[in-house]
Amino acid sequence: MSKDIDWSNLGFGYIQTDKRFVANFKNGAWDGGALVEDANITMSECACVLQYAQTCFEGLKAYTTEDGKVVCFRPDLNAKRMADTCKRLQMPVFPEDKFVEAVEQVVKANIEFVPPYGSGATLYIRPFMFGINPVIGVKPADEYQFRIFCTPVGPYFKGGAKPITIRVCDYDRAAPHGTGHIKAGLNYAMSLYPIVDAHEQGFDENMYLDAATRTYVEETGGANFIFITKDGKLVTPKSDSILPSITRRSLMVVAEKYLGMTVEHRPVAFEEVKDFAECGLCGTAAVISPVGKINDHGKEICFPSGMDEMGPVLKKLYDTLTGIQMGRIEAPEGWIDTIG
Ligand SMILES: *Cc1c(COP(=O)(O)O)cnc(C)c1O
Repeated sequence: MSKDIDWSNLGFGYIQTDKRFVANFKNGAWDGGALVEDANITMSECACVLQYAQTCFEGLKAYTTEDGKVVCFRPDLNAKRMADTCKRLQMPVFPEDKFVEAVEQVVKANIEFVPPYGSGATLYIRPFMFGINPVIGVKPADEYQFRIFCTPVGPYFKGGAKPITIRVCDYDRAAPHGTGHIKAGLNYAMSLYPIVDAHEQGFDENMYLDAATRTYVEETGGANFIFITKDGKLVTPKSDSILPSITRRSLMVVAEKYLGMTVEHRPVAFEEVKDFAECGLCGTAAVISPVGKINDHGKEICFPSGMDEMGPVLKKLYDTLTGIQMGRIEAPEGWIDTIG
């Protein structure tokens, strides 16, 4: 039975669901964790997360496939990425197999919130962890909470994906040898000023360049870049300060194995960008958002794919990956985690 929700008119906002998973780390060990009803958290005013931002997160989706199953897409990669993030932030790793089990438990406990096939809506799942005990001298917390909640979200693009306009940003997202490659809350805190500024200037997103030389393409605040060359190759930037998007890594496999394309994962100079045929942003939320135009301090790069619709190669990639996710196209081994 589905909840009484108008799925096709859902936005991308938080709706409280019935159950969430909570596990606590104390005295050097995780407890077993449990599903709870309380959506609120009580903690000390001096909790490490509040003072020194010791927190990280993940994001993935559950949805209904064509044949009516509820599935998740590659949750093992979210578990692995969160483990990598926790190590960099001096946080205890939540065991990867337990992470996937907890995701499955949360989806099962909120199964009525999983939108039906064809609605375009999905159940967004948000695992996160934070240091919870009081810390005033700068050091990692001793106690942590790991939680997973979920919230139904509407189709990212109502009425189809329209190309967006982005700008080359004068602020940096991540430094070399910094934290750009992990999913830390702090990477988002510092991106809020530049994104509000971009919106005020009439742009949808920021393109961040490498902080050291400002000559290579990094990513946006929350999505990786993929480019299509005029001869049909997929090119995607490589850098130690880019967050390894699971959508981007999946699209690289789809391009090579399903569509027979050549894939290049390498540093991409901003100078090259004007020569690409198509440009897109990729991430869990939208899968692919087409970019029609890049504004570099008043100088415009307009991609041949234009401002009306997604370019033909990105469209093929989008249709193939969403086809795999929705069970219309056979998935590579281990990509689909069937829950119910
Ligand atoms: C989460 C995130 C992405 C997208 O990753 P997916 O695994 O594809 O959702 C890209 N860039 C940043 C900075 C992110 O935090």
